[in-house]
Parts: sequence; C-alpha cells; structure tokens
Amino acid sequence: MIHSFDALILGGGAAGLMCAIEAGKRGRRVAVLEHADRLGKKILISGGGRCNFTNIYCQPENFLSSNPHFAKSALARYTPADFLGLVEKHRIPYHEKTLGQLFCDRSARDILEMLEGECRSAKVSIFVRTQIQEVSRDASFVVRTANAEFRAPALVLATGGLSIPKIGATSFGYEIARQFGIRIGDPWPGLVPLVLAPEERSRYCDLAGVSADVIASCDGQRFREKMLITHRGLSGPAILQISSYWKKPQPIAVDLAPGSEVTAIFRDPKVRRDVGTLRAELRKAMPNRLADRWVELGLPASWTSAALADFERQTHAWILVPAGTEGFEKAEVTAGGVDTDELSAKTMECRKVPGLFFIGEVVDVTGHLGGFNFQWAWASGAAAGRAL
Ligand SMILES: Cc1cc2nc3c(=O)[nH]c(=O)nc-3n(C[C@H](O)[C@H](O)[C@H](O)COP(=O)(O)OP(=O)(O)OC[C@H]3O[C@@H](n4cnc5c(N)ncnc54)[C@H](O)[C@@H]3O)c2cc1C
Repeated sequence: MIHSFDALILGGGAAGLMCAIEAGKRGRRVAVLEHADRLGKKILISGGGRCNFTNIYCQPENFLSSNPHFAKSALARYTPADFLGLVEKHRIPYHEKTLGQLFCDRSARDILEMLEGECRSAKVSIFVRTQIQEVSRDASFVVRTANAEFRAPALVLATGGLSIPKIGATSFGYEIARQFGIRIGDPWPGLVPLVLAPEERSRYCDLAGVSADVIASCDGQRFREKMLITHRGLSGPAILQISSYWKKPQPIAVDLAPGSEVTAIFRDPKVRRDVGTLRAELRKAMPNRLADRWVELGLPASWTSAALADFERQTHAWILVPAGTEGFEKAEVTAGGVDTDELSAKTMECRKVPGLFFIGEVVDVTGHLGGFNFQWAWASGAAAGRAL
C-alpha cells in the first residue's frame, strides 16, 4: 500500500507533534510515524509525571550547542508564552514551581492529550507501532515499513536522542543524518547523575540521600542549586546541570557552603580553635551529616590562620574528577547531535538536502534543566512545521 502526504514526520514525541500541528493547521497533509505503541511516552514520564513543559525565563543562554546563536531564531518565533497560550486554551491547570519552571497541576497526560487533540483538529494522520525499515529518496522521500510505503516531498526527523532507550530512544535520527551526508557531533548524555571514583565513593556515598545547597562548576559554567549524594556518586539539579558541560577527565568544583565563611568565627581571639567549634560552624552552612564528614576527612592540618584559610578554600572548592556518568540509561537528555551548521536556523531544513528537516533533541541544541528542552522541542517543531 502506498500513502502519499505533503510531509512525513518520523517520531511522535514533543517536537514531532508540534511540527505536525503547525503544518496541519496550514492545510498540509501530514503523517506522523511512531515506532512505539503510543505517542509521547517521554512527555508522560517527564517532570516526575507532571511535565515541566516550559520555562518563562527561557533565553538562548539556557542552551548548549556548538553554535550558541543557532537556537535564537526558532526560540524567538515560538516562545514560552505561545505554548502557554495553547495550555490555557485547553484549560490545563498549571503552576510555577521555582525559577520559572511551569508544571501541570494534575498530570503530564494533560499535555499529551492537548497535543493529540490539536493533531486531530489539524487532521494529522498518526501511525503508531510503525517500524521503519528504509528511508530513500527519488523524486520524493520514500519511507518503507513492513507493509506500506509512505511518500512525501518533505521528511522531518523528530526521533529524539539516545536517552532512556527502554522507552523507545534509538539512534535512528543520527543514522538517517549519516545516510544523507549530514554531519553529526558525537552525542553524550546530559542532565545525568555523576559517578564518583572508588576512593571518593567510599568516603561519601554512605551519605546517600543527603542533599545540600551548593554551587557546582565546570568548564566556565556554574549552577547554584541542590546537590544530592547517591549510592554511586552525585545527583540533584546542580549536578545534573553541570553534567551536561562535563567531559572526562575534567574536574568539577563544588562549593559546599555558598555565601558562608565557615571559619569567620575564629577571627575572634576569644573563640577556641577546636574541632567542636569548627563542626558547629559548618553545620550552620550544610546538612549535619555532610558537615561532620567534611570535618572528619578534611580536618585542618593545624589551627593556624593559614591552615584555616586553606580549609575555607577547600570547602568552597571541593575538586572532584568523576569516574563517569550514569549514561544514557539515566540521562534526561542527549547533548551533541546533528550539526547546526547543516541546518537553516529559521526552518531546520538541511542546507544541502532540500526537503529534509531535523528537529528537537536529535539536533545539537540541549537545554538546561527546567523546561528548556521541551521549549526547544516546541520551538524547533514549530519552525519546521511553518516551513512545510
Ligand atoms: C525522565 C525524563 C524527564 C524529562 N523531563 C523533562 C521536563 O520536565 N522538562 C523538559 O523540558 N524536558 C524534560 N525531559 C527532556 C524532554 O523529554 C526531551 O528533551 C524531549 O522529549 C525531546 O523531544 P523530541 O521530540 O526531540 O524527542 P522525544 O520526545 O524523545 O520523541 C522522539 C520520538 O521518536 C520515536 N522514535 C525513536 N526512534 C524511532 C524510529 N526508529 N522510528 C519511529 N519512531 C522513533 C520515539 O519513540 C519518540 O516517541 C525529560 C527527559 C526524560 C528522559
């Protein structure tokens, strides 16, 4: 059986659905081909089941890319307010959690149902459980599945990155890019917990569950948020954010007591310079168990002012060389991907393969934690959808 459309969108996740809606609204006959048994599985598990669907403070600075300017155009033409307009039109209750992050009050299902409803209104054809066997190109693009052939003059790759393979992530987008001679930058796991080397692990990981307000920094970036000690290393928002910038064997630095001077009290000559006082001061700046461990493992060599200054410095710059990350199995996002130099920043169309588009996470644009990755999916999806 041969199906003909104006555009074929491979991948029915956040970017693919937004692209289909925008193109469908403009009267284009579009089909979404999805290999999983349902659309938008990642949307359903996102934001702990409540989908952090955008961030009202979204700026180009919230994204990593080899070309930091690439995302600007799409982000400016489909803003958080545009997506919020859709959410409000569907009367989906939401709230701002922190730092501009908007979450559903009820469930991520609301967002998926909204997108599915918009697809229906825009007369988008959806094909789930569709295993794509081959993509080729003659006068148009041809996508072969086990029992059908789909043809269209435009093909959009919206198959996402490599994170969370168990819910359907594949390297398909990168393979199609290679097939058409489109350059890709090596993908790496982003927003992912870090694994500590055995020595550090034995020192700290029995404190699993302890969470502290820190500044994590690496590669010229710094994030002040929570850090969580895990059974194998470090996680929590500050660590997830910095993980996207980390490459082995770079060190990361963690300020365990941002804004506090934990040894300031010792400037008073009447204060005894001893472990008990130091521990008590540290406990004011970080959780008790972490404070106790930090003193136990890093007791100043002496009680001289120089040794105390050294202790102070180390408390604000715990230098670690992580052994690795928890990998794509646990990564919230895939960094790297389709080289943005290959794409039009306005439409996401390949410069050297007219009619071929890449959108969403498969492209080398990766958001910080906090709703930015969905905003990129919506914005890049809308950019392509308006050009189909
Ligand atoms: C646990 C978790 C929580 C997250 N929470 C948030 C959050 O709260 N806020 C936020 O902004 N971001 C969040 N993210 C990131 C966000 O989900 C992604 O950045 C976003 O979904 C990317 O959209 P996409 O459409 O490019 O890819 P996806 O949403 O991954 O969609 C790709 C689609 O393509 C399909 N596909 C893959 N290969 C094939 C193939 N060969 N044939 C056909 N179909 C295929 C997949 O099944 C999938 O449906 C989270 C990610 C994870 C893993």
